[in-house]
Amino acid sequence: MENKAIARTLRLLSQLMELHSENPFKIKTIANAALKVDKLSFAIADKSLLEMEQVERLGKSTAAKIWGLVHENSIPELHNLIEKTPEGIVEMLGIKGIGPKKIIVIWKDLGIENVGELYYACNENRLVEAKGFGSKTQEEIIRIIEFKMASSGRYLYARVEKYAEDLMGELKLLLTNTLVNFTGDYRRKCEIIDGLDILCGTKLTETIIANIQKAGLTITEQHTNRLSTKNQDGIIIYFDFCANEEFGWQMIEKTGNQEHATNVKLLLAGSDLSGKSEKEIYNLAGLQFIEPELRENTNELELSKTNSLPVLINLKDLKGSLHNHSTWSDGVNSLEEMALFCRDDLKMQYFGICDHSKSAFYASGLNEIRVSAQQREIDELNKKLAPFHIFKGIESDILYNGSLDYSDEVLQTFDFVVASVHSILKMTEEKATQRLITAIENPFTTILGHPTGRMLLTRSGYPIDHKKVIDACAANKVVIEINANPLRLDLDWRWHRYAIEKGVLLSVNPDAHRISGFMDMHYGILVARKGGVAAANCLNAMNLQEITEYFINKKATVQP
Ligand SMILES: [Zn+2]
Ligand SMILES: [Zn+2]
Repeated sequence: MENKAIARTLRLLSQLMELHSENPFKIKTIANAALKVDKLSFAIADKSLLEMEQVERLGKSTAAKIWGLVHENSIPELHNLIEKTPEGIVEMLGIKGIGPKKIIVIWKDLGIENVGELYYACNENRLVEAKGFGSKTQEEIIRIIEFKMASSGRYLYARVEKYAEDLMGELKLLLTNTLVNFTGDYRRKCEIIDGLDILCGTKLTETIIANIQKAGLTITEQHTNRLSTKNQDGIIIYFDFCANEEFGWQMIEKTGNQEHATNVKLLLAGSDLSGKSEKEIYNLAGLQFIEPELRENTNELELSKTNSLPVLINLKDLKGSLHNHSTWSDGVNSLEEMALFCRDDLKMQYFGICDHSKSAFYASGLNEIRVSAQQREIDELNKKLAPFHIFKGIESDILYNGSLDYSDEVLQTFDFVVASVHSILKMTEEKATQRLITAIENPFTTILGHPTGRMLLTRSGYPIDHKKVIDACAANKVVIEINANPLRLDLDWRWHRYAIEKGVLLSVNPDAHRISGFMDMHYGILVARKGGVAAANCLNAMNLQEITEYFINKKATVQP
């Protein structure tokens, strides 16, 4: 075992001791030992226990720990501390710039247990008021985590979208008289992408290269018909080049996915594709034009053969926004500000407020008294804002046993209830599935919120049996949320079709914690389209009258 590895382990031990508020002198001893071992000029692992003890001021007890680590591959104290600490907290200790003191606050005061949640909390402005933090620290943590995410070479679609669209605008100006468009994962609106792909309907020439460089890209590799480049932030952008008359077919081929393109090609056997547009080529193959986001080789070819592709939902189909937060819990804008933005800027007909429930102490969840105070405010606002309507909702925590955290008397004061899991996320698939199903079977549950709790790129969700959960929603007439926050996009689009087949409605919910959060509905719509969702499958595509009746009917199913 190398000194570096030993030093790292000792450092982790000292950090965990600090996290669990152990004796400061002992912590200091271990932290110093870590530094010392790191600087030794010989391999300490090769020494006997006696020799270790004699290494300059290392001391008996530390030497014993190192001996144990080298020869038994364990330090019992470390093992015990790791057992007591959530995995995600241990991972957080590995991030430069967030020390144990801050992690104690993050973990104990804010109830955050991993990097994904931390990133999410930063984006929701939740760190600003925490002890020892401020907006500067919060910005710094966002930067550190984003750097860590980007170093994996994978990006959230939402993080590159603006750059990608600006780049395309610039390229279109630079490459005059040239067909140019996105292909690949980005064009298929995949939630995570590992770079951008661009197709140009022209030969690759020196002039083209010069223009691409003008757009701020560095060429990293060059082939006859392909260029690899990267931008200043390290995002990789591939360019493919083809003859102008091949552009239509090449768009299909390069957009993919590969199986989709191959299957389309099989239907085209021998046809002359020269000069034909994408749409013409699909028609030639006996198919309806297939939107890029549907090209995942699921059932899109079969549907398109029989002219039965869904008419995909658009942002303008949404008539209201459900599941949002305000200053009543952890939001940034007041209830009235949020509602007015929906009415006046988004031209919507209704707004659903779903502040956190009482178990979410870290997010100032509402106790029963505050619930009724908020509902009085809503009654007043509804008089003022009519015919626009605010629905009284709540994001009720699903407790570990699957129950919601208010009594039935309180639950029945809401127009609708979003039930979500926020704590104790470490569960087996069986446990998680049962926990959700119990909540779904609660007659007060209207919408199941972010079903797996995943944070894209930073935390996989708890494992669930999607079919069982969706079947339970079908049986209990519970809507499933498509949480539109680009970090969540949960329910995953791969399960939308199954939900639709079972007659389950989906709801595109921004989970907005501030006015700008409503914009996430754009990303929710992109994944809904990818999942094959039409307006008729979407709860908040209902107009005010329809959704009012929907909520009343759902509540009417509760047995008194
Ligand atoms: Zn939530
Ligand atoms: Zn929420």
